[in-house]
Amino acid sequence: MHTLITGGAGFIGSHLAEYLISQGDDVTVLDNLSTGRLANLRQLSRDPRLGFVEGDVRDTELVESLVAQADRVFHLAAAVGVHVILDDPLGSLRTNLHGTENVLASANRHETRVLLASTSEIYGKNTADRLHENSDRILGSPLLSRWTYAAAKGIDEAFAHAYWRKHDLQVSIVRLFNTVGPRQTGRYGMVVPRLVRQALNDEPLTVYGDGEQTRCFSYVGDVVPALVAVEEHPDSAGRAFNLGGAQEISIKALAEQIIDVTGSRSIIEHIPYDQAYGEGYEDMRRRVPDNTAANELVGFVPKTSVRRIIELVAQAMLRDQTDRAGGLGSTPEGAGATAEVTHRTLAAEGSAS
Ligand code: UDP
Repeated sequence: MHTLITGGAGFIGSHLAEYLISQGDDVTVLDNLSTGRLANLRQLSRDPRLGFVEGDVRDTELVESLVAQADRVFHLAAAVGVHVILDDPLGSLRTNLHGTENVLASANRHETRVLLASTSEIYGKNTADRLHENSDRILGSPLLSRWTYAAAKGIDEAFAHAYWRKHDLQVSIVRLFNTVGPRQTGRYGMVVPRLVRQALNDEPLTVYGDGEQTRCFSYVGDVVPALVAVEEHPDSAGRAFNLGGAQEISIKALAEQIIDVTGSRSIIEHIPYDQAYGEGYEDMRRRVPDNTAANELVGFVPKTSVRRIIELVAQAMLRDQTDRAGGLGSTPEGAGATAEVTHRTLAAEGSAS
């Protein structure tokens, strides 16, 4: 099986690449390295089953040539992270709308199966006890970047669904709820890597607002096999599936647990939202998934507790620091990647159309 992963040098994409290669796939990663990093693929650097193409999902011809050679596509490439969305709303819209349509159109031409990674952001401000796939979306003004992002991802889903209805494209959708784990960077705002790093450095943990907002963090190691199982299931096409964590936790409680697990001397510092994100930012107070559909389809059960996730993230950060101190070639979070990765640029091999 030859699998194309768009955004495969990102946090989730790189874990997916490792998982698929461990299952025997050949994997081609397409990534423009805007937020993805070659260092994320370091473990696979000598594996001949990994191909890496530096390029953009907005590049129609490139996408067409790569999809033509794939048996299936996991479309993860997107503008992600609150900071990216706020800093470059236009680029984010183009990536999330045009990039996705490129992938779907090519997949349709070649009758290639697709898994589209969507997001719990599409539910917006709905604070229901459990958000199921048909729950209402409650979005703020489209002139606020956060809601622009939610609107664009909603349109992506609508595109996917329309291709399925009109052309029977075998495309399934997963909505990811705060997926976390080793290799996720805090540079673009994500709370777990930011707070864990602060704790390991004995710096104040920056909790935005009153810290009573809640999330259900899911571990990447639980989510990745479910992505594959959903994609492979014969009844998943044309449907969307929530994939989220089982444990609802406030950001304040998360910060306290991070301090406890890491044995840090840090204190918690509350920072007003407008200071953290600028004027006019709206946060979600609560976001709780109903995972029943994914559980019924593929037996998805998020097993990893928040405490265990914190341990795993902290251990990985410490290992990374030790490697760097020992000069083993790993790169600091967010630094330019220097790790060697197999470059099998398919276009350069003359196989692009
Ligand atoms: N957050 C925080 N401190 C930080 C970064 C984030 O308190 O240093 C908060 C953020 O305001 C939000 C929650 O943590 O309420 C989760 O933020 P993240 O960006 O990880 O995910 P999302 O907001 O997309 O759920």
